Amino acid sequence: MNKRILVTGGAGLVGSHLSAKLLEQGHCVVCMDNLSTGSMHNVAALLAHPDFSLLRQDVTTDIMLEVDAIYNLACPASPVHYQADPIATLKTSVIGAANVLELARLRHNIPVLQASTSEVYGDPHVHPQPESYWGNVNPIGPRACYDEGKRGAETLFFDYGRQYGLPIKVVRIFNTYGPHMHPADGRVVANFIVQALSGGDITIYGDGTQTRSFCYVDDLVDGLIAMMNSAPDVIGPINLGNPGEFTIRQLAEIVLELTNSGSRIVHRPLPVDDPRQRLPDIRKAHELGLGAADPVARRSDAHHCLFRDDAFKT
Ligand code: NAD
Ligand code: UDP
Repeated sequence: MNKRILVTGGAGLVGSHLSAKLLEQGHCVVCMDNLSTGSMHNVAALLAHPDFSLLRQDVTTDIMLEVDAIYNLACPASPVHYQADPIATLKTSVIGAANVLELARLRHNIPVLQASTSEVYGDPHVHPQPESYWGNVNPIGPRACYDEGKRGAETLFFDYGRQYGLPIKVVRIFNTYGPHMHPADGRVVANFIVQALSGGDITIYGDGTQTRSFCYVDDLVDGLIAMMNSAPDVIGPINLGNPGEFTIRQLAEIVLELTNSGSRIVHRPLPVDDPRQRLPDIRKAHELGLGAADPVARRSDAHHCLFRDDAFKT
């Protein structure tokens, strides 16, 4: 059945691709965004669609909408941006979560999915990270506004689930990239590609031995939708991401090779509390048949899309 779906943060990297996919599936999409890190360009192609509407609103303000399901994605995700106004980031996570949950409750318990993050594991002592790991987060450091904000949001989701029987879904997203990343996004994939294409220095923070995994955005979107459509007893948290681990130095070398760039690698100080290692244990996602679990199949496609001329238009 076609639904009217609210996507908060719908003008961002993930939200814009999710909105496009939901429209493709025949749903009506209400995108709510304050355009702080997202952009009109990301949804320009969707604006002509009769079933798409853009609401310029902050998720920390009261939400009154007639919708049948909610994806809560509103939150800056790049460390540079979420640390620029940490108080706003924390409020966005926690008050934003409270607002979408309250809307879901008032709408007679509609399903609501929270975009949580691998950052809830902090600088992990368990590797790879299973959902059962409680994490190692510095609650007073510069990343805390995001990490603790997302942890607080998860707590609210589970309390609404227990207290009101709300059909909640929580996914923990690991590093995701793709078209619609802003050139000034600040995250490593965007930085390295912009630097390589412009001939600037490739800035590795620290010695480059820290690790991450990188999921292509379409694969993540498949996982988000599969999670929303999963059985009511599947509430998560569920890790979604690519199970292939890379050092940041390896990533720099791959970007240099693919762009055929003459840029040189330089080193800059490692940011405070930068996690040393990160890799999702995605066995749960596999067992549940959630689609993001096999990103390797799309890797060549991903390279193609990232290097399209319009990949970095704002
Ligand atoms: P993004 O910055 O591209 O998108 C976030 C969107 O939220 C933007 O359009 C922004 O304008 C909007 N937004 C921010 N604060 C808002 C507010 N107060 N009210 C309304 N809108 C607001 O980031 P993204 O990569 O698309 O991330 C989407 C979600 O997924 C975020 O919640 C993020 O924490 C989560 N996530 C993403 C990644 C990743 O690697 N991309 C990893 C883990 C978690
Ligand atoms: N990083 C880097 N150079 C950059 C940007 C980031 O070496 O220009 C490193 C960063 O220190 C971290 C990793 O790349 O170890 C991933 O950073 P990003 O900001 O993409 O996301 P994070 O996983 O830290 O949230």
